[in-house]
Amino acid sequence: MKRRAIYPGSFDPITMGHLDIIERSTKLFDEVIVAVLLNADKQPMFTAAERLKMIREVSPWPNVRVDTFDGLLVHYAVAQKAGVIVRGIRAISDYEYELQMALMNRRLEPGVETVFLMAAEAYSYLSSRLIKEVFRLGGSVGELVPQLVEQRMREKWGK
Ligand code: ADP
Repeated sequence: MKRRAIYPGSFDPITMGHLDIIERSTKLFDEVIVAVLLNADKQPMFTAAERLKMIREVSPWPNVRVDTFDGLLVHYAVAQKAGVIVRGIRAISDYEYELQMALMNRRLEPGVETVFLMAAEAYSYLSSRLIKEVFRLGGSVGELVPQLVEQRMREKWGK
């Protein structure tokens, strides 16, 4: 049996923190599905299609598949025959929400286990929201997102 995991999120846009978690996951599982949640944020910076494309372009690992999903994550996990949901934990502030989600998902689908991974310390403060804020105000986000992502952000905002 293949060990298949799903790494779900908004990825608006994908950051070095996300990529760090994806790389760690590729070593733990046979296949990792990076799943972009559709319609979560009403005003995303990038459309789901743009996010999907960017993730594909910056993911060099052969055992990573990129997809979109809608509705309940556990339903998607079952449909994909994935037994594991991967989530990243940055600081203690992530913990409460992640714990709630993990326990609710376990209640909904006991066959799917949630696994938490920690990114490298250098990325522990990084979030897509913060990246967008800093970029919008003219700050440099180089090294915090892949070059291609920075380029796409410039194209969006004409900076
Ligand atoms: P969501 O909207 O589901 O929180 P995100 O795209 O913001 O989606 O994040 C997806 C997952 O990646 C979440 O589990 C989040 O905690 C984790 N994550 C995001 N940034 C980092 C980071 N810098 N280090 C570790 N985990 C991260």
